[in-house]
Amino acid sequence: MNMTRPSYLSSTRAKTPLKKTTRTASRCTMFAIVLAAPLQTFATHRKPTPLRDARILIVDSAPRVRIESKSPISIRNNKDRKLGELPPNQTSELRPQGGSIIQFDNRLRTPNDILLEPENGEPVSVSIYRSNKWQQLGAYAGSLRIASTDDDTLDIINHVDVEDYVAGVVAAEAWPTFHDQALRGQAIVARSFAVYHMTRDPNAEIDLSATQGAQVYHGIRTDSVGQRVDKATDFTRGVVLVYKDGTKDRLLCAYYSAACGGSSQPAAPFGADSDVPPLRGNVPCDYCQIAPGDNYRWEPVKMSLASIQKKLTARYNNAKKLGRITAITVSEKTDAGRPLSLRFTGSNGESFDLLAEKLRHTLGPNRIKSTDFNLRIEGAKVIFENGKGFGHGLGLCQWGMQGQALKGQHAGEILRYYYPKSRLVRVY
Ligand SMILES: [Zn+2]
Repeated sequence: MNMTRPSYLSSTRAKTPLKKTTRTASRCTMFAIVLAAPLQTFATHRKPTPLRDARILIVDSAPRVRIESKSPISIRNNKDRKLGELPPNQTSELRPQGGSIIQFDNRLRTPNDILLEPENGEPVSVSIYRSNKWQQLGAYAGSLRIASTDDDTLDIINHVDVEDYVAGVVAAEAWPTFHDQALRGQAIVARSFAVYHMTRDPNAEIDLSATQGAQVYHGIRTDSVGQRVDKATDFTRGVVLVYKDGTKDRLLCAYYSAACGGSSQPAAPFGADSDVPPLRGNVPCDYCQIAPGDNYRWEPVKMSLASIQKKLTARYNNAKKLGRITAITVSEKTDAGRPLSLRFTGSNGESFDLLAEKLRHTLGPNRIKSTDFNLRIEGAKVIFENGKGFGHGLGLCQWGMQGQALKGQHAGEILRYYYPKSRLVRVY
């Protein structure tokens, strides 16, 4: 029994607890793009891009997986040798066996780490079995790399043309009500974010996860929203955001979140290489007030001090020295007045500073929707109130983009507003 974890799951795994803020390492130039990958055929109308495929982790540790396509699917090993073929229009169920074998229904067994390629470039539908039920994930263009892990589950990495990936991200990250200019802006930031990560490590076996940790992606979408998304993607084909670094153009790691709540956060505290002009934050924005529901203003959240202390000490060793937390104060604000860093003081006189964004992720980013809040202790409770915005507030404000688009601004104008000193270039 081979219990070795596949090589691609070593250091390249894209697990990012903080949405779009932790992958901030080395800078990359747009001229480092690798053109070596062979071009493929696609079921979509798009011509292939001159980049290698994006590699997106779409399934992370599922015990069983079902796939189906309209075309036959060839199964290849990691040396590109054909091991078998799955018939069209028929669901196949895949299970890992002992970390080294993948079982296809009762008809076929293959070694671990295989590539599934639909023969006519048709998309492949993928479902996973989780919490005692089957869950449909989506239909994916390109091919699927499947590998079992040492805990006997399956991972799937979608190898997909970056333009098909961008369309999938726009379909999942934008709201169906978005103006065409907002969809175009979303396509440009999704592409910039993707190409930035692809060029940072051309040999990475996973560029990005398909979750909020990076960009949400559920494959292709073919309804009327999908058609509008396709148009926006095609209209902006190859367009990315860059900024000047000395005499060189550098790709921008284009962070974005749902609603900034009034001003953006500087990205520098989240990684030294994020200290670039388009991500310095403090961009004023009241356009996102149009965001529906509690995407702009959220109701006060009450949490017990004891539960906050428990969650903090589980994640941060420094929090253990505090004793009982007696005070929480804002130790640093952004220039626009948004809390940046918090200070926890304990009963033994020790204190501990933490970025407000990290506290938000420790307590639950969907519960504390943003770091633009006031905070006070009342008895044994902590109250987060006057909360505005949803998401980390770095870079583009998506609802602000929609607000500006409704006022007649074009995608390029909007993006240059939210990413100061950036500009758009077409790289293919
Ligand atoms: Zn905003």
